[in-house]
Amino acid sequence: MAKIQMKTPLVEMDGDEMTRILWKLIKDELLLPFIDLKTEYYDLGLEYRNETNDQVTIDSAEATKKYGVAVKCATITPNAARMTEYHLKEMWKSPNGTIRAALDGTVFRAPIQVKGIEPCVKNWEKPITLARHAYGDVYKNTEIKVPGAGKAELVFTGADGQEIRKTIMDFDGPGIIQGIHNKDKSIESFARACFNYALDTKQDLWFATKDTISKIYDHNFKDIFQDIFDREYKEKFDAAGIEYFYTLIDDAVARVMKAKGGFIWACKNYDGDVMSDMVSSACGSLAMMTSVLVSPDGVFEYEAAHGTVQRHYYKHLEGEETSTNSVATIFAWTGALRKRGEMDGLAELCSFADKLESATLGTIEAGKMTKDLALITSLDKVTVLNSQDFIKAVRERLEGML
Ligand code: NAP
Ligand code: MG
Repeated sequence: MAKIQMKTPLVEMDGDEMTRILWKLIKDELLLPFIDLKTEYYDLGLEYRNETNDQVTIDSAEATKKYGVAVKCATITPNAARMTEYHLKEMWKSPNGTIRAALDGTVFRAPIQVKGIEPCVKNWEKPITLARHAYGDVYKNTEIKVPGAGKAELVFTGADGQEIRKTIMDFDGPGIIQGIHNKDKSIESFARACFNYALDTKQDLWFATKDTISKIYDHNFKDIFQDIFDREYKEKFDAAGIEYFYTLIDDAVARVMKAKGGFIWACKNYDGDVMSDMVSSACGSLAMMTSVLVSPDGVFEYEAAHGTVQRHYYKHLEGEETSTNSVATIFAWTGALRKRGEMDGLAELCSFADKLESATLGTIEAGKMTKDLALITSLDKVTVLNSQDFIKAVRERLEGML
């Protein structure tokens, strides 16, 4: 059988630990035998990031802007323990943070649903995609522990010297205060990324804040979304037969619980942090969650939502067998290949991505799965496979389909 051809290379960002092991297995077993795989390879493994003073991460982000589609393996975000473990020159920043800043992106996360792993919320027939604004608010706050009685004020001094001053609280005793911010430019990018993603995936878009209480801060989010929607997207949404819907965050939570799924839920930074954990745990496992970073000018970076699965890696290093779930990493590849196929007009590549996804899901539905899923499945005849054998079982099924 002739291998499927590609035109433009994918930006390939290799990573760390157990996911690096899965990365190679997936390429060797599921991609290279079938595709004439073109990638521009960047090694974001911590050792090479350290060797290049993290330049490799910056280069990979630049390449993503150039080519438009990247696929990323999970990477270690260094902390004190990693400094010693990897003899690091510096505590390098999170690669995801660096890439996100370079692409000015929004992160979309969706659970991979499969028969046998049912969400706890019975009416969720289709996945709910969470779009999280990844800038500002409480994640870039300034806080003070107020020692005792006194006046707390909010002061803005403009570059032109203009001053705006408001009283936060006249304290009669100890307390706490917090200052947070966001930027119109960042909110605009967030809004456009959400609208583009909704059009791209033909799903309704929901957005919710607490604008009834936060009449300036949250209201500004609501206004920016509505304004951009009316000016740039309304007609496109009508043509695609999809809807933009704004509501209060509490109303959104109540509706989500009763919804059938199949829509995108855009959230401010904190809401997105909390709600994506709720959606993913209700759907079984972090290892069944895809993640894609989308920039406002249509650049895509696909990855799994989970980390490097360090605990399994240490077992692997000791020669023990692991049963690590590779589904989200396989779906990062299929997402990137399909997007590349769409951009380059390669129907065969898109169809390969579809087949690899259905071979993966079919394998699980046939009762062959890794341990994390075996623990929560509703199927009764289950074979627990190790990391390697699961990927081999997917290959067998894929070969039958091609
Ligand atoms: P993690 O790698 O997501 O793993 C946490 C636990 O979740 C694992 O120990 C495992 O539970 C379970 N798990 C996650 N993925 C799994 C999979 N594919 N198959 C089976 N079980 C899975 O998070 P972590 O251990 O907190 O972080 C490890 C490293 O990953 C850290 O250095 C962190 O910086 C990095 N990280 C990177 C990214 C990214 O690159 N996007 C994201 C998050 C974390 P059991 O041990 O109970 O089996
Ligand atoms: Mg969280």
